[in-house]
Order: sequence, then structure tokens, then C-alpha cells
Amino acid sequence: MSTPTQLGRHQLIRRIGAGAFATVWLGHDPEFDVAVAIKVLADNWAADPGIRERFLSEARFLRRIRDRRVVHVYDIGTLDDGRPYFVMDYLDGGSLEDVRISRVDPAKALRLCAEAARGLEVLHRHHLVHRDVTPGNLLLSNRPDGTGTVVVADLGVARSVVDSSSGSMIVGTPSYMAPEQAGSSAVDHRADVYALCAVAYALLTGSPPYRVERVTDLLTRPATAEPAPIAAELRAPATLDGLFRSGLATDPHRRPPTAAILADAFDQLADALEGREPVAAQPAPGVEPSAVPVELPPSTDGHTIALASDPAPPVSPAAPPPALAKPARTATFYIGMTVLAVVVFAVFVAIVIGFTL
Ligand code: ATP
Repeated sequence: MSTPTQLGRHQLIRRIGAGAFATVWLGHDPEFDVAVAIKVLADNWAADPGIRERFLSEARFLRRIRDRRVVHVYDIGTLDDGRPYFVMDYLDGGSLEDVRISRVDPAKALRLCAEAARGLEVLHRHHLVHRDVTPGNLLLSNRPDGTGTVVVADLGVARSVVDSSSGSMIVGTPSYMAPEQAGSSAVDHRADVYALCAVAYALLTGSPPYRVERVTDLLTRPATAEPAPIAAELRAPATLDGLFRSGLATDPHRRPPTAAILADAFDQLADALEGREPVAAQPAPGVEPSAVPVELPPSTDGHTIALASDPAPPVSPAAPPPALAKPARTATFYIGMTVLAVVVFAVFVAIVIGFTL
């Protein structure tokens, strides 16, 4: 297969890398004069209708979302030999895999994970589950001021929530994959919450929480398994271990219920590590009560994921307990009725005395 030098109007500069199904090229768009990343489906997969459709649906999912936290696709095409490709923003800051290898300061790692969680929240609001959240799929864009943003990429195995029951091909990266992805149960956004907790653990320690060789290993992991504690070694609050215990729980109901809540938990732990006072808060539903001081987001407007099976949020402590309110009203009622009866009786007696006289 000859190496192309031009794709549509885009010039190819160099090959960035290749995954299991596609190769990504650095290109140049002469119209906009910007660097672009171009993903081309591998020739050995281009004839497979299932893989081809999955590749095209990645492009369509990414095209639908316009958010700086998710890589944007702005062109799609087909090579003369029939291989499809799509053109996306080029992100020049590497990925969280580089961060894992270089072992950055824990507070910085947690900030990056908070950003990644907010990117996943964007997908979830679009009814998408990524299903392959790994350090290598969370890219970094560099800004001129030196700050970077985490950008969610590689939606090659993403699925719509309405279509996310497993049953077809098991996909994902075993060391970061939520156990339910290996089984027969439906997979929802909480699989991404699990995977991002595994990514955070890997960024903080250098390795994912569990060594998983094969997807089938996930099926035999005991439901009570817990990741090794790391807070003491990192001189972090013990709440960090609590977050990983809930976020990496086998049961999705025990996990933080949304990526937005997970983002806040990461940020508050980063605050604590930086010596700032964490925001006073109550535990989020799904996060171990004694574990993480998480402030619930003020509103989940626009969050379209059904959370019907999640535990109910805690009742606000400010609300008066209904069982106490009822006797108080009843006593007032009886006192009022007694006074009224005495007055009516007195008037009656006065009338009778009046007639008698
Ligand atoms: P797989 O798709 O099998 O999970 P992968 O994530 O390595 O594997 P690709 O998504 O095809 O494969 O990416 C190949 C390489 O291109 C990776 O190193 C990735 O970081 C890089 N890459 C992907 N998209 C971009 C982009 N928009 N900008 C810069 N680099 C990118």
C-alpha cells in the first residue's frame, strides 16, 4: 500500500502513530493554514463492514459535539483505494500517557483528571459512553500561555447509551476497563467513571490499580476487591483512598454517579494537596460518606443520563423533619378549638341568663 502525500486538500507531513484499526497522520490544511490530525482506517480493515461502520460512527459522534474538551472533526472523505478517513484538530501536547510515565506532581495529576472528567461529562450529556478511557486517549492541547487542556479523543468504540448493552464485541483496554464491560450487563456512563478513576490511580502511582492480562480476568475479580491504599505514601488525605474505593467498585451503584461529581472530587483533593481548604461539602451520592468531601453541583440541568437506579440523594439537613412538624400543628389546633368552645359556651350561658331575667 503506497503512502499517500495528500488527502483531499490536506498535505500529509508525518505519521503520528497507529492504533489497532487506524493510522493517524499529522497534516496541514492550506485553506485554514492549520495543523490537522488525519485518521485513516487501515487497509486490512477497510473491507470489513462492521469495522468500517464503527470508524465512520466515531467521526459522526465527534462531528456532533462542539466542545473544547472533545476533539473536533471537521472533514471526512475516502481515499481512491476506498479507505475512509476523517480530519480533526491536531493536539500537540501529548497525552496523559506521557503524564503517567513522567509522574507529575499529584495535585497536578488530579487537576488533569478533573479536566478529563469534565470532558467525559460532555460525552455523557450527548448520550455517549466512551468505553475506552485510557491515559493515551486523553490528549493535551498546549495553549500559547503554557496551560493545556485535556481533550477526550478516540471514540472508536464509543456507543450511544441507548445501544450500550454488551452482547456484541467486548471492547476496551483491560487494565482500565470497568468489570461490567466484560460481562453481559448493560454498560452506562459509570463505566467511564470507573475507567477515569483507574487512569487517575495510574497517574498517581505509575500503574493502573489492578493488573489485568485478559478481559476474562475481570469476570473473576471478587466484588469486594479494593485497590491498594496510596494516600499515605502520597501524603494525601485519606479521602483519596475512599474515592478510589468507591470509584473502582465492581458495583456501578457505589461509584460517583456522574463524571461532573467525580471532577469536583478530584479538584477538592487537589485543593487539599496544595494546602488550600477544601470547599465544605456533604458526600456525593455514590461516594463513600466517610471518604470524600464532595460538593454536589448546584444543578444537573441538561444532564440527560437516566439515574433512576442511583441511590436517592441525601435529604438536606436544613429541612425540618416531617414527623416532628405534625404534632406541633395538632396541639395548636386543639388549643384553638378549646378556646372557641369556651367562648361559645359563655355566649350561650349569657343568652340563657338574659332570657331568664
Ligand atoms: P486504539 O485506537 O487501538 O485504541 P490508539 O489510541 O493508539 O489505539 P489512535 O487513536 O488511532 O490509536 O491514535 C494513534 C496515535 O495518534 C496516538 O498516539 C494518538 O495519541 C495520536 N492521535 C490521535 N488523535 C490525535 C489528534 N487529534 N492530535 C494529535 N495526536 C493524535
